[in-house]
Amino acid sequence: MAIPAIIVHGGAGRIPEDEHAAHLAGCKLAAQTAWKLLEGGASALHAVEIAVRILEDDPTYDSGHGAVLNRNGEIELDALIMDGATLDLGAIIAVQGIANPITLARLVMTDTPHKILAGEGAREFAIHQGIPLVSTTELATPKTRARYEQHKAGIPVSAEEPHGTCGAVAVDAHGHIAAATSTGGTPFKLPGRVGDSPLVGSGAYADDRTGAASATGDGEQIMRVVLCKAATDAIGAGMDAQAAADYAIRVMVERVNGLGGLIVVDRVGNMGFAHSDRNIATAWISVDGVMHAAMGRNL
Ligand code: ASP
Repeated sequence: MAIPAIIVHGGAGRIPEDEHAAHLAGCKLAAQTAWKLLEGGASALHAVEIAVRILEDDPTYDSGHGAVLNRNGEIELDALIMDGATLDLGAIIAVQGIANPITLARLVMTDTPHKILAGEGAREFAIHQGIPLVSTTELATPKTRARYEQHKAGIPVSAEEPHGTCGAVAVDAHGHIAAATSTGGTPFKLPGRVGDSPLVGSGAYADDRTGAASATGDGEQIMRVVLCKAATDAIGAGMDAQAAADYAIRVMVERVNGLGGLIVVDRVGNMGFAHSDRNIATAWISVDGVMHAAMGRNL
């Protein structure tokens, strides 16, 4: 029997001090809930979906409720889930009007012959699956709306831009691995802009033979180094989870000067995280069942 493991993140960036407590609280709740499921014998795939749903429902994070607005004042959501046992995956890109994109991504994986659905087609699929639609007004918060108005008026926004893409990676009691990532993307993005999060290997990757990773940060740079696959390949080359996370971030900084972070689990349940921006909100549960949470590694 493998030892279950779970680590989650709630975004990397320059997260303002007064938002640290909320970022950590949501991550802890997601990790705790997923851990209980794993202890009860749930699959890693189920655990990462539920962990990310909890973060999507929490308006602290830039995913589901609380996702940032694009230049048209709309919310376009991206998500990816991957099953390390089969290398199967499901992703949705730039979909509007749903609260839990990670569940829609999982349904793309299980209930269609495809791997990725985008835009209006993804929304139609959600309706077909009986997923209730929600308006942008319901998903937006006073904070995301105020930020949008600031961008629109050309008022410079603070460097303390909160980020809140969320993700989870887990190993279950059967030694299967999964990864999930969900985001509203970047504030005031062009309509149709897609970042790293729903791109396999960039925003997430999972392979039972190596490990799993979920990324956050500057999507335009993360995708150039296929950050999560870089980390799992490093595990395949003999590194443990922490060394692989450090390695992947180092490659991103050296090659494209990218800002961001990632969480990693290897196939035996070792966990790690690394970041090149100031913070990454994370929570994980060690083999002794103890909860840990951090806003980064004090770079
Ligand atoms: N990586 C996300 C994107 O580029 C944003 C983030 O993680 O803050 O869409």
